[in-house]
Amino acid sequence: MAVPQNRVTSSKRNMRRSHDALSPSAHAECPNCGELRRPHHVCGACGHYAGREVVSMVEEIDLDEAS
Ligand SMILES: [Zn+2]
Repeated sequence: MAVPQNRVTSSKRNMRRSHDALSPSAHAECPNCGELRRPHHVCGACGHYAGREVVSMVEEIDLDEAS
């Protein structure tokens, strides 16, 4: 099994981990419904993007219903 040749000091370990922090995800308010959505993404609550509905938000479609 490979074994580290030298001990990593707490200073070097902490320097390596200085880049490990996660930044909070970006979010913006949907202009249509006010829900928080990711920038440049379709709103998950109302399906709107750039001022129009691009994803239909129909709750349920009954396929067995005779038409
Ligand atoms: Zn929305």
